[in-house]
Amino acid sequence: MIPVESTKGSVFSDGNRIYTLSYNPGIRVYGEKLVRISDQEYREWNPRKSKLASYIKVGGKVFPIKRDSRILYLGASSGTTASHISDIAVDGRIYCVEFSPRMFRGLVNSCAARPNMLPILGDACNPAEYQFAVGSVDVVYADVAQKRQADIIADNMDLFHADIGIVAIKARSEDVTSQPSDVYRASERRLRERGFDILDSRDLEPYENSHSMILFKRA
Ligand code: SAM
Repeated sequence: MIPVESTKGSVFSDGNRIYTLSYNPGIRVYGEKLVRISDQEYREWNPRKSKLASYIKVGGKVFPIKRDSRILYLGASSGTTASHISDIAVDGRIYCVEFSPRMFRGLVNSCAARPNMLPILGDACNPAEYQFAVGSVDVVYADVAQKRQADIIADNMDLFHADIGIVAIKARSEDVTSQPSDVYRASERRLRERGFDILDSRDLEPYENSHSMILFKRA
């Protein structure tokens, strides 16, 4: 596992804001600010728009995405977070799965100038649908905001032989009546039952209400 600091070069923090070194200088993906640092262009990574950035902002130290990682991204939406992962995994590949045709159109645009991002119109609950396009991956990242979040990522990790998982848990998608912290603990329990060890688990407040991020690996 590599700490956030060792991605230096592709991730930069000035102690307040976070940036990624742009894979595609001059181009904004979601209206983010572009800045020059040491003569290179970086894109501001907004923790209010990306749960992976908010994980770093709340003190998350486990960051398993490397320059050459192959990543399956479930719930890519129009590609906000996926584009920052694309800045980091420059020599890797991000398979971006999204099932909403409307979001998918934006995702296709985000992927157009980024050869390491591949858009896939598919349902994360049915990974066999996109098995032909993916092969094996190192990391599965899931942000699907629907029921059974732990099982959806675990099913994909099993099918694509991934050892590392990162899942954003939206408490209200699992159960609107339970305390978010109970939902997070139940998701961690479920991941352990599915054969994984929890590496880190953090509440994303104040950037995201009632969300946590769980990072885990195959036991
Ligand atoms: N991860 C995105 C980001 O940070 O840029 C935001 C994701 S948004 C919270 C959740 C997305 O998951 C939505 O675009 C939704 O359409 C998609 N989604 C929900 N269930 C899905 C499923 N079963 N398969 C594929 N996409 C799904």
